[in-house]
Amino acid sequence: MNQSRIVIVGGGAGGLELATKLGKKLGRKKKAEIILIDASPVHLWKPRLHEVAAGVLNANIDELSYAAHGRHCHFRYVLGRMHGLDRKAQTVKLAAHCDDAVNAPEDRQILPEREVRYDYLVLALGSQTNDFDTAGAREHCIFLDNRRAAEHFHQSFLNVYLRASQKNTDRQPQKFAIAIVGAGATGVELAAELNHTAHQLNHYGFDGIKPENVEITLIEAADRVMPALSEKASAAIARQLQKLNIRILSSERVTEVTDSAVITGSGKTIPAQLKVWSAGIKAPALLGSLDGLEANRINQLAVTSTLQTTRDQRIFAIGDCAHFQPPNSDRPVPPRAQAASQQASLLVRALPALLNGSALPEFRYRDKGSLISLSRHSSVGQLMGNLSGDFTFEGKLARLFYITLYRLHQIALHGVFKTGLLLLRDRLNHRTGPTMKLH
Ligand SMILES: Cc1cc2nc3c(=O)[nH]c(=O)nc-3n(C[C@H](O)[C@H](O)[C@H](O)COP(=O)(O)OP(=O)(O)OC[C@H]3O[C@@H](n4cnc5c(N)ncnc54)[C@H](O)[C@@H]3O)c2cc1C
Repeated sequence: MNQSRIVIVGGGAGGLELATKLGKKLGRKKKAEIILIDASPVHLWKPRLHEVAAGVLNANIDELSYAAHGRHCHFRYVLGRMHGLDRKAQTVKLAAHCDDAVNAPEDRQILPEREVRYDYLVLALGSQTNDFDTAGAREHCIFLDNRRAAEHFHQSFLNVYLRASQKNTDRQPQKFAIAIVGAGATGVELAAELNHTAHQLNHYGFDGIKPENVEITLIEAADRVMPALSEKASAAIARQLQKLNIRILSSERVTEVTDSAVITGSGKTIPAQLKVWSAGIKAPALLGSLDGLEANRINQLAVTSTLQTTRDQRIFAIGDCAHFQPPNSDRPVPPRAQAASQQASLLVRALPALLNGSALPEFRYRDKGSLISLSRHSSVGQLMGNLSGDFTFEGKLARLFYITLYRLHQIALHGVFKTGLLLLRDRLNHRTGPTMKLH
């Protein structure tokens, strides 16, 4: 008998957890064929990108190879970037895969355009930064959307220090201004991490710029940092940022970015050598008109409570690329790793039920709160729950909870024992090497 084929596109926070668990549940017993497609050969948990940008995480050490993981977890990995869909033929269309480093154009194409057939399809393509078409943002800002961008930011950061060391033979104080647009989780965590990096670089001899001369400005359109959190949590985060000398400009909407500055609607000009845009998200443009599927104005696919797309029951969407507003809620499920992970867990139950002809379970989002890392300095958490209500806490306990989030993702992928080994490896690396990436 032919096995049903479940194809998952996007191996991020949601898609990879789903492929791993379905592989073990269905793939291993040959109850279904599980295929994971991703445009990249390796996975890196997106909430750690700001650490890569700041140089405190070496992505080469933390990456996971989809091919190797798939072999271990009984799913097949296909390298490819989805660029279309044929719902009638039930195929996902993949763009040709090219190696741009190859000189001769005729040898550049490694894989041709391809089609992958599906019986059931899960779209988990994540999101990208939304610059709201602000003039100059795309040309002059770095968007922390993927590992390549984070590594590019890190290199640009180091280059400023290298130049400053060279110039600084006459010991004139050198300034380094960084502007971060958007004081949500990405912007806030990056600002704190960069402050830490500035101190670490001095420690390792990059002393052309003193840490006190690194000026980090966070610019936010809302009237406070982390507007999605409670006022209490937001105030606790602002206090910590001020302790780190990070300037906060709230109620300021950015209207233009130039080569040397960020300009706001109220007429403020914030000079900056490095500019990061982290002020909103949108799903990949491809999803906005994907063979008739319903999408919202930021390209997220509309899904029902079973996470099936509204116009095709064979197609599911989870994570940042899905739009679901629970009944009795005034806002949609937020684009967070915890939401992607909870949706993956629902489909681990739903897809086997579908194959058995049983009713599908419905998704209920449980907001467990948010944890914001302020680098090694501290963390602030806001826990939600029946017992805690809305409970804000800071310091070492919040930091411990924050670290646990990533370890939970690793446990979902590798199990407890291997995660323990990875923890040990990380500790050893921390002890034996520099505490940050210096090249
Ligand atoms: C710096 C930063 C810090 C964050 N911190 C937190 C946090 O503390 N807590 C929290 O809950 N959330 C946090 N987030 C948000 C969180 O990362 C996302 O909500 C989460 O990763 C979404 O998961 P996903 O599975 O939908 O997509 P992703 O994890 O983004 O994965 C999408 C995958 O799809 C692949 N892909 C994309 N397009 C294609 C295509 N066309 N074809 C094939 N493959 C494709 C990508 O390569 C990627 O592997 C943070 C985000 C950032 C950037």
